[in-house]
Amino acid sequence: MMVVMQEGATEEQIAHVVTRIEEVGASAHVSHGERVTIIGAIGDREELTALPIEACPGVARVVAILKPYKLVSREFHPTDSVIDVRGRKVGGGSFALIAGPCSVETPDQIVAAARAVSAAGASMMRGGAFKPRTSPYAFQGLGLDGLKLLAAARDETGLPIVTEVMDPRDLDIVHEYADVIQVGARNMQNFQLLADLGKVGKPVLLKRGPSATIEELLMAAEYIVKEGNRDVILCERGIRTFETATRNTLDISAVPVIQLASHLPVIVDPSHSAGRLDLVLPLSLAAVAAGADGVIVETHPNPEHALCDGPQSLPTEAFAEYADRVRDLVLWSGKTLS
Ligand code: PEP
Ligand code: MN
Repeated sequence: MMVVMQEGATEEQIAHVVTRIEEVGASAHVSHGERVTIIGAIGDREELTALPIEACPGVARVVAILKPYKLVSREFHPTDSVIDVRGRKVGGGSFALIAGPCSVETPDQIVAAARAVSAAGASMMRGGAFKPRTSPYAFQGLGLDGLKLLAAARDETGLPIVTEVMDPRDLDIVHEYADVIQVGARNMQNFQLLADLGKVGKPVLLKRGPSATIEELLMAAEYIVKEGNRDVILCERGIRTFETATRNTLDISAVPVIQLASHLPVIVDPSHSAGRLDLVLPLSLAAVAAGADGVIVETHPNPEHALCDGPQSLPTEAFAEYADRVRDLVLWSGKTLS
């Protein structure tokens, strides 16, 4: 249930509604908009509908939310959420270009990648220290050493770092180094991890599972926001279909579908969608045209020798030209590159 307060409702009136909601054992989530405040009430439907909230002073109307997700819904928060990562904004007209290698491999590799993405004007740097690999025999990432290399890259370039956590037991250490904590596609429904991320004070980049519906993605985001962390960026990274020409099928319609349903920013990962270098630019441009709030793309100084995802990684020497093409379309579409 959602309580829309009148314009100019006082803090006292808002607090009173919160108290009434909490009295029946439900939780109240307050969202201050530019003009009106909305209070999301989550709890037992019967108890909530029996509450005479409309009669409380300052209440404009009470609306039932029929969707299974509530806090991430547009009804709850009509304007776009803007996530601020060390001053780089994502959403609400700010576009984030996030780039870097699939995994952190060596000091030289990460420094070369960081310099290239920074010089090309990227907004943030990506790189995996804990890698989800299909094969247990494949390179699993450098772990803590990888996080330290990412921190050194941040010190040199000033770029915020996006890196993945796979296991709730690693959350403290990843939290210490990351600016944005990524939840990989395979972990989208690791509910314990999501709930734990809801309690940290850092933005989360939540990737859509390869077989997850958009509703399941939004429910996964709801797990995080419900615990108090509102800074969630959603990522469409391709889904599994019958098509074999690409590694996954980029569901470009997910971008506007999610934006209609939710206030959270949505970015696109053209690298894991395509699995092919030659499709990274066209899919990135498609993402911008569809209204995405950013892209996260893999680039490597030496893709031929990459320990992970070389075939889909842009060589860093080609990254500046790629970034220019993306930037042109971002600006043309009326957004700013953060
Ligand atoms: C990644 O970003 O490196 C990654 C493994 O992506 P995904 O979880 O989307 O497969
Ligand atoms: Mn990868």
